[in-house]
Amino acid sequence: MNIIKICPACGSLAIEVELITVKSMLKDNLKAEVDNGKEWHICSGDKCEITYFSNNKKFSKNDIRVLVWYKEQTHEVPICYCSNLTEKEIFDAVKKGCKTIEDVQDYTNKNITETARQKIL
Ligand SMILES: [Zn+2]
Repeated sequence: MNIIKICPACGSLAIEVELITVKSMLKDNLKAEVDNGKEWHICSGDKCEITYFSNNKKFSKNDIRVLVWYKEQTHEVPICYCSNLTEKEIFDAVKKGCKTIEDVQDYTNKNITETARQKIL
């Protein structure tokens, strides 16, 4: 049975994440603060500053190495961290006449991964 978690700061639904995800997304100086034995979640609230949390630890947007796309009001956020391709780059490419993902890939000179492809479509 999955237990539904809510963010302690904003009350939004939270999604369970693996410990390895929390550790790889946190800034290096904060990794020691991660408690290995606890369950970790991420807040789904787009206006909330909290990202990962456990029962006794909370991390904010500033504690992680990347921008969380749904918590940012900018188009400069990567839609896929592997490609490091931003919404703005896609919009710019389309404005310049790109019509397919391959066009965007050529224009931006970035490798568009399968994950990014699915977010674009
Ligand atoms: Zn929250």
